[in-house]
Parts: sequence; C-alpha cells; structure tokens
Amino acid sequence: MSSQTMKYCPTCGAQIASNSQMCPKCGAIQPTYLNEPSRAAGKLEVDPAIRDAASKKLAAGICGILLGAFGTHKFVLGMTTAGIIMAATTILTCGIGGAVMGTIGMIEGIIYLSKSDDDFYETYVVEKKSWF
Ligand SMILES: [Zn+2]
Repeated sequence: MSSQTMKYCPTCGAQIASNSQMCPKCGAIQPTYLNEPSRAAGKLEVDPAIRDAASKKLAAGICGILLGAFGTHKFVLGMTTAGIIMAATTILTCGIGGAVMGTIGMIEGIIYLSKSDDDFYETYVVEKKSWF
C-alpha cells in the first residue's frame, strides 16, 4: 500500500484519502478543503491593514469628539505635527483657541466615524490626509 494517509468522510463514513477535496462516494465537500485558507477563506479574509485602520478609526473618532482640542485623535492616527499644532493652540491661548480646536476635532471625529473602513484606510492611512 502507499503511504498516503486515510480519513473517514464525515457525511457517509467512507474511508477516503486524507487529501481528497470531495468524497468519491457521496460527493460531500471535505472539511480540510473548506479550511484551506488559500482556497475557501481567501476572499472572506479582511486585509489586516484595513482591520487595523478600522480600530484606529473608532479610537480616533471618539478622541476627536471628546478630546479634539488637544489633538488626541491626531496622535492616535500618527499625525504628530497636526496633533501638536492643535494641542499648542489650545494651551498657548489658555483655552481660548481650544473652543475652535475642539470644534475642529469634533467635526473630524464625526468625519472619521462616518467613513467606511476601506475609505478611512485609503484617506488617512494611505494618503495620510492630516486635516478633515
Ligand atoms: Zn462521503
């Protein structure tokens, strides 16, 4: 006999080759085939970069709305310069500029949250758009 390993079809119980994609007896698709990442799950898998951007979108959106005056949402997105400009404006004007910066932050936070994950990724991760 060959060294090929065998398995049992979960549908009909027939003994079949472990690398079979389909049971030759009952025609059932085999679980190993379904679990093969390159074949079955490939299209369903979300790009890790977009998944990462989606979590940043939520964090930056909330920070922008609540703490926008200090540029917190900019730091979340890695836009250090823009964040420093907002924080400095707020602090150096003893909070007077903070009203303006806070409004900008709130608007930006809402824009972030209103974008789709893909759109957010394109605009703020790929294009690195700093304002609005
Ligand atoms: Zn079968």
